[in-house]
Amino acid sequence: MKQNFISINLKLVGSLCNLNCKYCYEHEQYGNRNTGFISVDDIINYINFLRNQYKYIKIILHGGEPLLYPKDKMNRLLQYYKNESNIHIAIQTNGLLIDQEWIDIFKNYSNDFLFSISLDSKDSLLRDFKTDKLSQKFKLIKDNNLKIGIVSVISKENIDTTKYKKFIHMLINKFQINFLTINKIRFNNQIKDSFINELEYTNFLIDIFNYWIEKKLYNQLKINPFLDLMQNKNSCIFNSNLQKCNSFITIYPPFNIKGCDHQKGQTNNLSKCLGCHIFDFCGGGCIYEIQDETFCDARFKLFNYIQSLKNE
Ligand code: SF4
Ligand code: SF4
Repeated sequence: MKQNFISINLKLVGSLCNLNCKYCYEHEQYGNRNTGFISVDDIINYINFLRNQYKYIKIILHGGEPLLYPKDKMNRLLQYYKNESNIHIAIQTNGLLIDQEWIDIFKNYSNDFLFSISLDSKDSLLRDFKTDKLSQKFKLIKDNNLKIGIVSVISKENIDTTKYKKFIHMLINKFQINFLTINKIRFNNQIKDSFINELEYTNFLIDIFNYWIEKKLYNQLKINPFLDLMQNKNSCIFNSNLQKCNSFITIYPPFNIKGCDHQKGQTNNLSKCLGCHIFDFCGGGCIYEIQDETFCDARFKLFNYIQSLKNE
């Protein structure tokens, strides 16, 4: 019997990137270097093997920077899966290489395509570029009627919610962004001073969530993890299924298959979670993320906050 779902992170060009963002976990592990490309034929052969085992396959074009992959190869890959309802292709890009040729390639795959672009706020020193450089790219995407989702990482640099609210308004009013995902920075040795603990992240989320509701911004911009938490659609860091990491595969050039790209070091011991009354909500976090001492208090606070919203 087929399993439901598998998500494949395709590191099409390995860790190679046109930027050098300080918190990049790929660069911390592998450096910014050219290790070759994954071949389209290898991808197709592997997906043919997986489609006998899974009902739905999500392929995420990832990096490094996936738009460093040759355009003709990307076009072939996308065209191959163009009309497949059970195989969905998404991208995570820094966006700076987007041009009309790339737009045409993705639009030919789906005229509803969503570019998921990494961007923090103007204050973040961790990114290797400033927001202004992206504004022409946003305009190009919007002029072609495609969608934009922003993936934003919260660190010491941009945790000021007053400034972040302005950032949200800029995303809505200036760039007509459709989706925003707010993630916490992951600890790595290069960015120790920028790290925030779970409680700081939770306080940030609650403040932004309250503002999003109060100003009715949800009509214009969908924000996660808010929507997922309200709808009980748990992403892996809030998922209590002990097998959750088995649904994620990462492939590096030339064709090295690994688990989730966050798997490194030791796993957290979840034995403390099994008797915890919010385990179904909390899921114990990422199995491989180092938990700071505020983690459980922060998850209890978030749980109580979400419950109070649901009871309103
Ligand atoms: S709050 Fe702590 S003990 Fe409870 S489920 Fe989450 S990580 Fe585990
Ligand atoms: S390693 Fe962490 S990020 Fe990756 S699937 Fe498991 S819980 Fe999710």
